[in-house]
Amino acid sequence: MADPTLVWIRRDLRLSDHAALDAAVKRGGPVIPVFVRDGLVDGLGAAPKWRYGLGLEQYADALADKGSRLILRAGDAREVIPALVRETGAGAVFWQRAYDPESVARDKDVKAALKDAGVVADSFAGHLMFEPWSVETKQGEFYKVYTPFWKSVRERLVQAPLSAPSSLPAPDVWPKSEALSDWKLGAAMNRGAAVVRPFVQLGEQAAQSRLGVFLASKVAEYDRTRDLPGTDGTSNLSENLALGEISPAQCWHAGQRALQDGKAGAETFLKELVWREFAYHLMWHTPRILTDNWREGWSAFPWNEDDRSTEVMAWMQGRTGIRFVDAAMREMYVTGRMHNRGRMIVASYLTKHLMCHWRIGQKWFEDCLIDWDPASNAMGWQWSAGSGPDATPYFRVFNPVSQLDKFDKGRGYVSRWLAEEYGSPHKDALAYFDAIPRSWSMDAKDSYPDPIVQPDEGRKRALDAYQNRTF
Ligand code: FAD
Repeated sequence: MADPTLVWIRRDLRLSDHAALDAAVKRGGPVIPVFVRDGLVDGLGAAPKWRYGLGLEQYADALADKGSRLILRAGDAREVIPALVRETGAGAVFWQRAYDPESVARDKDVKAALKDAGVVADSFAGHLMFEPWSVETKQGEFYKVYTPFWKSVRERLVQAPLSAPSSLPAPDVWPKSEALSDWKLGAAMNRGAAVVRPFVQLGEQAAQSRLGVFLASKVAEYDRTRDLPGTDGTSNLSENLALGEISPAQCWHAGQRALQDGKAGAETFLKELVWREFAYHLMWHTPRILTDNWREGWSAFPWNEDDRSTEVMAWMQGRTGIRFVDAAMREMYVTGRMHNRGRMIVASYLTKHLMCHWRIGQKWFEDCLIDWDPASNAMGWQWSAGSGPDATPYFRVFNPVSQLDKFDKGRGYVSRWLAEEYGSPHKDALAYFDAIPRSWSMDAKDSYPDPIVQPDEGRKRALDAYQNRTF
């Protein structure tokens, strides 16, 4: 019998369309799935770390159904993986690629160490459909604008998804595993977790059924309904894509089938999947998008960087007095997610009306979103702020009041998330008050606040700053 293969699990909590697992089974010999809680996991914000813990628990159960286990180890993967190889006598380690700079550096080190030790080390695609280095302009450069990126990939062949292995051969003796409960990945969620939990759809099966429901009943109208935050018109798959509970290739092929069946909205869905690819493309080629203004010169822009200012606190706590903004911020606190239209509005409001640095918003989202994704979050913030690639120009300032009239005509969205003005508030609006820290001193019976900054005043201030900029 061949020696064991370690499959290093990261953001790929699924059994189907998993190239590393598939290759491990085909190699023969026992397969040992391992997850390493390293500094990258420890450094996650409260909600994504909690969601990761739930995902791992579910994934361990899914592996157990296949006669396998998820071995958990904590420490630097540069040490943990080679040590586990020595302990188990593994002859190969397989994993699916990550693209953020810290993971890339770590994986390179691990690969080099394994190769030095004579162990086969192979990484596979799976988190993306198009490897970032494989998409180039005619001049051999990376794309900085979405539309030509979309045009260059839309006809490309996307590998057909792999089936789940029917079983995973187990070793005679399993290596020891740490206990997930000891890791306390949900510790920072405190009482918020119980409120967010009902909104989570966990694991591979749930993700597949989400995709099925979306394609059966929502995708045909998706290009119209995806902009209406009061309508459940989108796939909601970001939560599952973030942890790899479903692969983008599975979504892509299903979307293509829907398009062939005449569901016109499916093309917009494919385009959105490609926005996700574009975000990774940008992060891979310009990792500074995660931390610095992508456009040169923007560091001179007079953004307020005080992340505890009165304006920032009001924005975080959903009490700016601007209904669209407050509803969206509360939606995120209760569900761990926020409608895309809401994300654009709150990001524009923070960076333009309130003139606060996009990094403050990026960080807060990183703490609150169960679908947090490093690439999409950074791109979304810099796009909204005007400092990113293919960004909305700074002078185009979303008016959160007219946006509400346009996209929430019947006020279904704000009445679901704001309690203060309603005699019998929606249960989700009330749930917000169960989730937030007591120190925020907010009560559903308070009167709704006046705007901290009037939309016209904020817009003028932002435009003045833009016109007087020195770059
Ligand atoms: P659908 O409309 O059903 O779209 C299908 C999939 O396409 C999504 O699941 C997502 O993977 C991808 N997608 C859709 N829109 C975008 C987009 N604008 N950019 C990149 N990918 C997209 N998305 C995240 O997954 N994680 C984040 O942390 C995140 N932060 C954001 C921050 C800001 C400021 C902005 C403006 C957008 C952010 N987005 C983020 C993108 C987008 O808002 C979400 O992907 C989308 O709302 C998820 O809902 P859905 O799964 O129902 O999407």
